[in-house]
Amino acid sequence: MSKAQQPAKIDLSNLKSGGFIKERGKDLFTVRLRVPGGRMSVPRLKKIAEVAEKYGGEFVHLSVRQSIELININFKDFDVVVEELGEATQKVASCGARVRVPVACGGCEYNPNGLVDTQKSALEVDEKLFGTATGHHKFKVAFAGCPFDCPKSATNDVGFQGAIYPQLDKDACISCGLCAKNCVPKAITMGEDNKPVFDAERCIWCGDCVKVCPTSAWSEKRRGYTVRIGGKWGRNPLVGTLFATFLPEERVVDFISTVLEWYKEKAEALGRIRLGDVIIKEGPQALLDHLRQQFPDNTVTATIPPQVIETQVGIRS
Ligand code: SF4
Ligand code: SF4
Ligand code: SF4
Repeated sequence: MSKAQQPAKIDLSNLKSGGFIKERGKDLFTVRLRVPGGRMSVPRLKKIAEVAEKYGGEFVHLSVRQSIELININFKDFDVVVEELGEATQKVASCGARVRVPVACGGCEYNPNGLVDTQKSALEVDEKLFGTATGHHKFKVAFAGCPFDCPKSATNDVGFQGAIYPQLDKDACISCGLCAKNCVPKAITMGEDNKPVFDAERCIWCGDCVKVCPTSAWSEKRRGYTVRIGGKWGRNPLVGTLFATFLPEERVVDFISTVLEWYKEKAEALGRIRLGDVIIKEGPQALLDHLRQQFPDNTVTATIPPQVIETQVGIRS
């Protein structure tokens, strides 16, 4: 067989990094779709269902990171699948050593607990940073609207949680006691004068006191994102630790870019390594110092390395 007659070889790793993942069956692939923040318009969802019915298997899979995966797509149909999805502006996601599609909870639009617009942040990060090559490993970002942290943001390379720091105007207080009753971490108790006493050390910045106070005696002093860095899941999970507080929403992309810059440089000779493991090797102060240059009002003075989750299987080097 001449070279020209030979069938073209499929580069599976190249396809995977483009969002086409080889399945067990011959010629079949899973196509991972890009769904930043897990939000999907109804017309787009209908189009995806149409394409899945036409070219895929009997079901689609909803991934744990909020993407929709089309199953059993034959590689011969790639072009037409991408083209038809494009009619509804639906794009294919990616895998590999790059910034992945950010995940987010519903945020503050309709969710009563939401303190920040996580959806806006997720879309902005997707638009400006999605697919950026890290040179080392995958890089995951998540946004939670409040400290409940439903998206488990601290298990991402960079995880954001909405936060409010409360302040009290004692003169406006009518001593109803609602704030103390609703403060689950018991950061508020009622004092001898029947006015609230605030224990800042216990406060988790959830903003519940601000929401329940009938006279607005509690108000927000600061609002923004709490940022934890260095988390990951997988074989050797890590929980990210606190590097910044009350980061303004409009600085999220700059912040991630600054972390990426540090990661790319420090992991240079370390091969395929996640950010959390680089922080453990370098010590968290190095990254804190790097961040402080650009975010002096938000970077914490000291932190601890990402925390190992002991799985009790396999010795961690
Ligand atoms: S993290 Fe907070 S805002 Fe987001 S879904 Fe959970 S409770 Fe709601
Ligand atoms: S922000 Fe939340 S934890 Fe802090 S004092 Fe208010 S209710 Fe309590
Ligand atoms: S909820 Fe407001 S008015 Fe009631 S005790 Fe607390 S601060 Fe005072």
